[in-house]
Amino acid sequence: MKSIYQFTLEDMIEEFIEINEKKFRASQVFEWIYRKGVYSFDNMNNLSKDLRAKLNEHYLCSLLTMKEKQESKDGTIKYLFELEDGGLIETVLMVHDYGKSLCVTSQLGCNMGCSFCASGLLKKQRNLSTSEMVLQVLTVQEDIQDRISHVVVMGTGEPFDNYEQVMKFVYIINHAKGLAIGARHITISTCGLVDKIEQFSNEGLQVNLAISLHAPNNDIRNQLMPINRKYSMEVLRDALKKYIEKTNRRVTFEYILLGGVNDSLAQARQLAHYMRGLNAYVNLIPYNSVDESGFHQSTKASIQAFKDELLRLRINATLRKEHGSDIDGACGQLRAKRVGGVHHGNR
Ligand code: SAH
Repeated sequence: MKSIYQFTLEDMIEEFIEINEKKFRASQVFEWIYRKGVYSFDNMNNLSKDLRAKLNEHYLCSLLTMKEKQESKDGTIKYLFELEDGGLIETVLMVHDYGKSLCVTSQLGCNMGCSFCASGLLKKQRNLSTSEMVLQVLTVQEDIQDRISHVVVMGTGEPFDNYEQVMKFVYIINHAKGLAIGARHITISTCGLVDKIEQFSNEGLQVNLAISLHAPNNDIRNQLMPINRKYSMEVLRDALKKYIEKTNRRVTFEYILLGGVNDSLAQARQLAHYMRGLNAYVNLIPYNSVDESGFHQSTKASIQAFKDELLRLRINATLRKEHGSDIDGACGQLRAKRVGGVHHGNR
């Protein structure tokens, strides 16, 4: 059965025409779901009984199954959801002073193979569908009885390796008659799939782009991120330059500080050199420990020195606040610990 959450409003209208229903019925259903937060056709009380029966027959309308929910001291909540086929995914809610932001998963597992990241320990099983991403937002909103104001596609998976469905997801949550999450409140993070960055620059969207860079040169990046052997840092830089020229948007670089690997002052200068002339800024991320990886966090002093060096060279840099590290909900710590009921956990 099709999920009702896979449709943009335009798709839903077409779909309704196919099942011999009026266009405005599609708008009504869209509104029930995204405006009123009603997740059962039977409760959509301005629809006729017949129509409700027809919808039940054709489409799935239920929210995701919540298997587990862990709350951190800082208010972060990590959810473990079960998908229709039994696949398990994690979604993280973060509470900020400016609103509530949701870290959405885009794939079941990940094939990018970054050496420091736990999310990639499970190889990609499949892409998530548009509806499975939309449902992460709706299910969490229902659970907290509050609105999600920001979405970051930074959970497990490489969003640009699931390009079409991620774009449709963005379109649905951004739609003015739907959740109306502002494009500037949506961020997609990629490890740097250059062909997709180019495609993304043609979408005409105001959505933010973040690049997981994590290294100041190819030698180090090749070791940390296999994708760099396909698209070197120079190729990536060219693509970003074009993206920025075309969209007039600023790019964010994510840079995890790994003690003794990429956190020296000389490396800060190399990073500054790489970024020179790009409308970009760096978000420095303290490394969150992942038992298997063998990396460790930079000291507080080296983190500060690295940041100061960038600022001295007039490169915009901020230090990312950690969320939910006590529940393994922080960056790179997401992983479905149990697959098919078997413990594959690291503790
Ligand atoms: N595949 C996409 C989306 C995932 S975003 C991407 O690479 O951008 C998740 C972010 O957390 C990425 O920037 C990733 O590099 C970072 N990350 C991974 N492991 C981490 C760790 N152990 N500590 C801190 N950040 C980590």
